[in-house]
Amino acid sequence: MTYKFSPSSLSLLKECPRCFWLRFNKNIKRPDTIFPSLPSGMDKILKEHFDRFIEKGELPPELQELNGEVTLFDDKELLQVWRNNFKGIQWTDDKGNVFMGAVDNILKIEDKLIVLDYKTRGYALKEDTHKYYQDQMDIYNFLLRNNGYQTEDYTYLLFYHPNKIDENGSVDFHADLIKIKINVKNAENIFKRAVDVLEGEMPEPSDECGFCKWIYECNCEMK
Ligand code: SF4
Repeated sequence: MTYKFSPSSLSLLKECPRCFWLRFNKNIKRPDTIFPSLPSGMDKILKEHFDRFIEKGELPPELQELNGEVTLFDDKELLQVWRNNFKGIQWTDDKGNVFMGAVDNILKIEDKLIVLDYKTRGYALKEDTHKYYQDQMDIYNFLLRNNGYQTEDYTYLLFYHPNKIDENGSVDFHADLIKIKINVKNAENIFKRAVDVLEGEMPEPSDECGFCKWIYECNCEMK
């Protein structure tokens, strides 16, 4: 049996290996929950905004501190594929398992690529906010390198959060650009662990999630 993984499905492995195992081996998925649509809407208009600057050969205002250092990746056709959630950047291991990820944007310094990801949140950044995205960014860089591209050993997260409403009623968003070091070995370890977990017995429930314990107690009560 072979598997296809994305960064979001692999984040489930971190949360609870049992839920991950059930999803891939038994096709038992967590129930859908209401998902805020603001981040998807922001992603769409940000891609359009950045594409206008690709056409002009300039950096958008949010990236002015990188002016003269980087350029926007300008192969729009390839970027369309890499952004596509069903295609993205893919790599297949020697067992036939597929690992994929869809990026938001790419910057360039000569032949080296730098992944840029947009994040929308409700409030200003905390000191450790960027840490939640380390695995995702490591995975993107691992995929690019395994497709023959050189990447810098860092990446950028561009956070937006609502700042104020101006006089004509438009909401102003504040942008923070955060540079983080990447570790492709971390991505490789995540992939190996994902396959090892799925090829093994069903793992124990996570200590941090009480639902499996709750179901067990409900079943006992009902007998
Ligand atoms: S412990 Fe929670 S997250 Fe893990 S399998 Fe049970 S319900 Fe899913």
